[in-house]
Amino acid sequence: MRTQLEATRLLVYNAARLKDSGKDFVEQAAIAKLYSSRAAEAITSKTVELFGGNGFTTEYPAEKYYRDAKIGQIYEGTTNMQLQTIAKMELK
Ligand SMILES: Cc1cc2nc3c(=O)[nH]c(=O)nc-3n(C[C@H](O)[C@H](O)[C@H](O)COP(=O)(O)OP(=O)(O)OC[C@H]3O[C@@H](n4cnc5c(N)ncnc54)[C@H](O)[C@@H]3O)c2cc1C
Repeated sequence: MRTQLEATRLLVYNAARLKDSGKDFVEQAAIAKLYSSRAAEAITSKTVELFGGNGFTTEYPAEKYYRDAKIGQIYEGTTNMQLQTIAKMELK
């Protein structure tokens, strides 16, 4: 979980660095969005598991974090659209 979080940060910072320096950042941004939304879901899913049955109840915030993380794969460009963007850039 820690490793996924660190990888996510580095991908996001790399895309931001490219944008800030006026370079082409579209593919790196799509890679960062794809990976970070998948990592967020994986990390929060593990969090639910770590809490056991309590993770599934609304008495603890774990289940809310999981639901909140899932939306990252849907809005601001779905995972499928990030995959298409990355594929298009690779085939250029
Ligand atoms: C909580 C929330 C907040 C939102 N906030 C905003 C906001 O502030 N501003 C805003 O403009 N929108 C917002 N949206 C809308 C969001 O951007 C859309 O839900 C998102 O773009 C997906 O569109 P859709 O729901 O119409 O799904 P659809 O386009 O119907 O897609 C359904 C599924 O099919 C896949 N799919 C669709 N077309 C293709 C294709 N050509 N190739 C491969 N796969 C495809 C998608 O990846 C997805 O998995 C929000 C949505 C939610 C749930």
